Amino acid sequence: MANIFFDHISTTPIDPRVLEAMMPYFTERYGNPSSHIHDQGQQALKAIDAARAEVAGLVNAKPEAIVFTSGATEANNLAIKGAAEAWSKKGKHLVASEVEHFSVLNALLPLRNRGYEVTTVKADSDGKVDPDDVRKAIRTDTVLVSVMHANSEIGTIEPIEEIGRIAREREVLFHTDATASAGHVPLDVTVAGADLVTLSAHNFYGPKGTGALVVREGVGLESQIDGGFQEMGYRAGTENVPGIVGMGRAAKIATEEMGEWSFRLRRLEKRLRDGVASSVEHLHFTGHPTDRLPGHVSFWVEYAEGESLLLFLALHGVMAASGSACSSNLKGRDEDDLVASHVLRAIGVPSDICTGSITFSMGKENTEQDVDQVLSVLPGIVRRLWEMSPTYLDYQKKVLRGG
Ligand code: PMP
Repeated sequence: MANIFFDHISTTPIDPRVLEAMMPYFTERYGNPSSHIHDQGQQALKAIDAARAEVAGLVNAKPEAIVFTSGATEANNLAIKGAAEAWSKKGKHLVASEVEHFSVLNALLPLRNRGYEVTTVKADSDGKVDPDDVRKAIRTDTVLVSVMHANSEIGTIEPIEEIGRIAREREVLFHTDATASAGHVPLDVTVAGADLVTLSAHNFYGPKGTGALVVREGVGLESQIDGGFQEMGYRAGTENVPGIVGMGRAAKIATEEMGEWSFRLRRLEKRLRDGVASSVEHLHFTGHPTDRLPGHVSFWVEYAEGESLLLFLALHGVMAASGSACSSNLKGRDEDDLVASHVLRAIGVPSDICTGSITFSMGKENTEQDVDQVLSVLPGIVRRLWEMSPTYLDYQKKVLRGG
């Protein structure tokens, strides 16, 4: 049986065209963009400027708004801490949704310890944030609202345009973490009214270790890394030129091909969703049924523990993610603690069940055969886990007794 990668939300394979564009910058074009007095340096500078324009094109931003970082985690830290520090004279209050990624939630923690206040906005049972709740959370001393574009775990796309409108009306900065969505669904920073947008190359077939923060003109940010004056002074340190070139190429390809990918992925998503719904009992889909990332199918199964499901799927060559995988790295917890995901808890999945969630995220290289192969093994795996589950046996006894 072929191996099947259904974990594109954690990372995507690099597109061969991206790798090809990067290669010369590891070998013959090795210049440092800050040494642009000579030819090698100039070539590097030209290459990162071209990539800046390509990344800007993905989200309809101005090229000079793109600040390259080491990834989404750094971009989220720069957005949250950088804006909070730069605007502290205005106030020390921030608003974030409870379903944000840890690189947002944990970036807020040190600010709390330094006297900042954070209001956390709830999500509904589909994982959607109500823009009206954001409106109510904003105070006169609020400096920033942070609500992600799409949730990696449950796939829900948030109403960022409405939230951006509210932030603009109330004159607070709006940051959106578009790590999971950029390159998969259209995002126009001007329409979204976003002042700060987080992007990550490896989530749209680019290289790992490269991301960007889109910083709208006029938004002051305190740099979080002290050093030289690279990246308009927002991010010191010699640029990762091959990574940036790769991110640029990946952004260009995604801009041109995203529509075609998402059309195919929607079809695969429906095939997988319909297939699991009809072949696995006691299954509950998570996330919004329609406003969701293309190719993303997430669910939990009663009486079947998620990590075990993942393990058995892996034994059958199917690579997916469980809701608890990320949360086992919650700050202050032991590495191997199996805890319910904060996202699943937020959407009201009972905490003893939360560990049971599965996220299948398909990518542009997946096929209908891949979906069918997963569907051919999943029901058997679930049955096997039920047979080993004391709670399922209790349930069956109750059914037999007619209870
Ligand atoms: N934000 C979201 C929504 C994510 O899913 C992730 C993880 N891919 C990150 C931020 C952090 O990304 P990275 O680990 O690439 O920095």
